[in-house]
Amino acid sequence: MTVVTRFAPSPTGFVHVGSHRTALYNYIFARQQGGRFILRIEDTDQNRYVEGAVENLLSSLSRLGVSYDAGPGKEDAFGPYFQSERLSLYRREVEKLLASGHAYRCFCSAERLEAVRNEQLEQQVPTGYDGACRGLTREESDRRARDEAFVIRLKVPREGMCAFHDIVRGDVEIAWSQIDDQVLMKSDGFPTYHLANVVDDHYMEVTHIIRGEEWLPSVPKHLYLYESFGWKAPHMAHLPLLLNPDRSKLSKRQGDVAVEDYLKKGYLPDALNNFLALMGWNPGGKNEIYTLDELIAAFDINKITKSGAVFDVQKLNWMNGQYIKTLDTAEYLREARNWLGTASVNEARLDTALLAVKTSLLTLNEIPEKLAVFIGDPAEPEPEAAEMLALDSSQTALEAYAELLADLPGLTAEGFKDVMSAVQTRTGIKGKMLWMPVRIALTGMMHGPELGYIAEYLGKEENIRRVLDRIEGRQDNRIN
Ligand code: GLU
Repeated sequence: MTVVTRFAPSPTGFVHVGSHRTALYNYIFARQQGGRFILRIEDTDQNRYVEGAVENLLSSLSRLGVSYDAGPGKEDAFGPYFQSERLSLYRREVEKLLASGHAYRCFCSAERLEAVRNEQLEQQVPTGYDGACRGLTREESDRRARDEAFVIRLKVPREGMCAFHDIVRGDVEIAWSQIDDQVLMKSDGFPTYHLANVVDDHYMEVTHIIRGEEWLPSVPKHLYLYESFGWKAPHMAHLPLLLNPDRSKLSKRQGDVAVEDYLKKGYLPDALNNFLALMGWNPGGKNEIYTLDELIAAFDINKITKSGAVFDVQKLNWMNGQYIKTLDTAEYLREARNWLGTASVNEARLDTALLAVKTSLLTLNEIPEKLAVFIGDPAEPEPEAAEMLALDSSQTALEAYAELLADLPGLTAEGFKDVMSAVQTRTGIKGKMLWMPVRIALTGMMHGPELGYIAEYLGKEENIRRVLDRIEGRQDNRIN
């Protein structure tokens, strides 16, 4: 059996991080099993149509490197992959259910349904269709259908339990009494999600449904549909919810939830994939950094956890920082140049400045603020830094640094290390006691970008000027 998975989003706007995780799990599992991964656009709900949502979805998948074998723009015999282009199929299939008595026409008006609902709310009983049209005879139904509007509902069993196995949740039982007679086809001839989803999963030969936990309560309806059609249902795996740190459902109010938001802030696709793939499953062991290929090799669908996964932005930041560090120089510079914003750094030495900040970045959108250290004069040292500068050893180190530098033709990040070794040899001062005064003299701060690149960026003369400025009694004694 060839494994076939699908990602079946409804294009309702932005791509939620939870939705991308669903896409990833389907992609990873299909790739691991040597199967096929398809993308199906579930766009039958005309009211929820959002301009540009499909383009957004496709570009998000492509930027994140999740490629599908069949779907929009990659048609094959199982397509089309937009549900709005498959309406005749759903109409044909729902007729079969009407004929076999598994579905029935419902002529109830919106007003009547509203009244039933209000009554149920008042009596504090579960809301749902009261089944008024369930018992219509075939003849009556056919007759009324000639001039009355109707929807088609699934005739779900009234008693007993629906029992099924879910790869993540294990054995699940849901009482049929909790399941409403679901509308399958609306009066405008458009199918609901439930009908279209089941019909497509069958005809597209999907073997594994991997999707968010919010769909678990719909499983009985779907299984009943498979049974009514006489089809075999796919395996199912319902993924745990993504949670805010306070364990509430991940929401916009507590932070960004759109994949686009993260890309816009300078999170790298590989880092986002890595982070999201570990929300609900992890390979065990200490390592947390995995490329997509490594995830494909390590993934175990049977080890997806049941409990919700907390979306920890701190961890994502850390992971993204790790990914930025491992970008090779050319790739990093190419990417980083897109993130300059209004930072007006000396263009001729921009690469040096960008390399200086590389290891301290968590996200690429921090670049402008990190580059600030290269613009204008150094900051006035805070008291702690000023105290450090005033130490005798600091003064000695700075003097040696200025003197040794004066003898050199120029200064590179590499050369800087040699100068520092030479200062150490000459003065016996080392480690923090050596590096900190030089850092403070050059930048005014105790922390910041890589010192070698800062030194290179400033150039020999400016290094000497800044260092002499910090040597007591030498303020006006600059070497020019
Ligand atoms: N269209 C549904 C959604 O937007 C798909 C659910 C499923 O995978 O069955 O989430």
